[in-house]
Parts: sequence; C-alpha cells; structure tokens
Amino acid sequence: MSIKYSNDKIVIVKGDITKENTNAIVNAANSSLMGGSGVNGAIRSAGGSRISDECRAIISRIGKLETGEAVMTSGGKLEAKYVIHTVGPVWKGGDESEEAQLSNCYINSLKLAAENGIETIAFPNISTGVYRFPKDLAAKTAYFTVKASLEKYQNINQVRFVCFDEYNYQLYLKLLSSDKKDNINLLLDFIPYFESNKNKFCTFTQPEKGEDENIYTSYPSYDKGLTDFIDIVYETGFLKENYLECLKEEKIENADNSEIIEIIRESDLLLLRSILTYFVRQERFCDGLWGEAAKDKIFLNILYRLREL
Ligand code: ADP
Repeated sequence: MSIKYSNDKIVIVKGDITKENTNAIVNAANSSLMGGSGVNGAIRSAGGSRISDECRAIISRIGKLETGEAVMTSGGKLEAKYVIHTVGPVWKGGDESEEAQLSNCYINSLKLAAENGIETIAFPNISTGVYRFPKDLAAKTAYFTVKASLEKYQNINQVRFVCFDEYNYQLYLKLLSSDKKDNINLLLDFIPYFESNKNKFCTFTQPEKGEDENIYTSYPSYDKGLTDFIDIVYETGFLKENYLECLKEEKIENADNSEIIEIIRESDLLLLRSILTYFVRQERFCDGLWGEAAKDKIFLNILYRLREL
C-alpha cells in the first residue's frame, strides 16, 4: 500500500498570497523575472525592491528562467522569508506539454523548498491568469502534483493553495474533499471484516519457560485483517500527531470501552480521529489492546460513525 494522507498537509485558502506568513510564497513569474501584473506585481509591490534586485542578479547569471523551473530570492518586506519564482506555461491549446510544464512548476518549487529547509509554503494558481491555462485542469494538475511530491518531501509540513478568485477556490475545495472521501472509503472497506471476525482478532502465545528458568511473558499475534486495518489508518494519515493531547482533550482515558462507544456515537470527525489515535498508539504500552478494542467493537463503531458523517 502506498497511499499517504498528504491531503492533511494541504490547505486551501482564499485571499492574497502576499499576506501569507508561510516560510516561502511562490510567485507566478515570467522568464525574465521582471515585474509584471497579477500575482507577480502584487508580490513585488508588497515585497519591495530587494526582491527585484535579487531577480536581476539571478537573470544576469542564468540568462532567463525556463518554463517549469524555479529559483529563490528573499522575501524582502513580506512576512514570508523567501519567494520562490517559477514560470508557468502559457496555454496554447494543450498540445505543447503545458500540463507537464505546469506540473514541473510545482515539483521544482517544492524541491527547492525542501532543499532549503522550508516547511510551509504557499502557491498561487499558477498560469490561470494572463497565461490562460484552463482553471479546472490547472487545479487538478497542481493538486495531484503537490500531493505526490509531499510523499517525497516529508519535511514539508504544509502547502497552502491561495486562491484569489472564488472559482478557483471552489475547484480546490472540491478536489480536497473528494480526496478525503476516497481515504475514508478505504477505512470503511473494513466494516465487513470487523462485523464478521468474532473474537479472532488476536491470539496470545503461551508463556514459555526459558533456559534460564525465567518465564517469558506471552505476546499478542494479530489477525492479518487487523494489522492491515492499522496500516491503512497510518497510511491514510487518519491519526492525529499528538496522541497525549488526544487523551487530555477528550477525557477518554478513564472511560471504559462501553462508555467510549457511547462517546463515539456522538463524535465528530476530529473526535473520532482522537479516539482512534488513542487506541492505535496505546498498543505500545498495553500489549493486546488492538485485539481488545476490536473485540469490544471500538473500531467497528468508529467506522459506523465515519460512514454516517
Ligand atoms: P500567470 O501569468 O501565471 O497566469 P497571473 O498573476 O496572471 O499569472 O495569475 C495567476 C493567478 O494568480 C490567477 O488565478 C490570479 O487570479 C491570481 N492572483 C492575482 N493576484 C493574486 C494575489 N495577490 N494573491 C494570490 N493570487 C493572485
């Protein structure tokens, strides 16, 4: 399985990219790295002359920036420390590798960001203004390219798509929500497994007597279905990062499993994620907990609730 829930790291916002306080913002530049209109003009006027000075220095070194390539300058007066300049393709009808070139803009920007330790980055909707790239295709290209690249650049924690117009904003929101649904469907596929597998989730080895006469404690061995489920839960990024906070926030630590099922029945998505995080992580301290949770229908009830939401 190679599905990663990188869409947890993707955020869609509507607004002006010059106001973003990510480590870097990306500029939809032109090949001469000169000032222009649209987002390029906005970044330069908000960032001040330092950005243009650095752009000139880069151009005197490399001549021009090819379509799909990316370079970096400081952020000047912007809140963002860096600006990554990339040149989007001009739309010429779709037969001139425009899609691949647009993909390259995102790939090369993220590569440069990762190489420079940038953890948060904001993108405009490159090429969808003066360069006339169809917005639907641009959004899909941007979204899926970024999603794939995030698997490679694990140190990048957040990518924000900053949409200036309502149409783009709605496109990206739709992409994100259908992507999340696909991930949740992967989890829901386990409902029949948890419904049918009565008490077979976990077996324990018999305690053994070692050569040194010590009795070794038994350890759980899990049914493949259950370990597959846990893998998918990890891979889809359903878990929350800070599981200790899950405990504190949700007051589930002292509840017994039947009380937790009651809580699950009323939970929203965030709370479900906390509860599942609690059960998955807690296994480290309590061998056999997954089997117990499965037997007590904790996972099944979480999935039922997920299906309802
Ligand atoms: P391109 O030449 O790559 O098409 P444009 O700047 O003309 O670049 O447009 C790219 C996208 O940036 C368009 O969707 C446009 O609406 C958007 N845009 C313009 N100004 C801003 C801004 N201040 N912040 C974010 N996006 C912006």
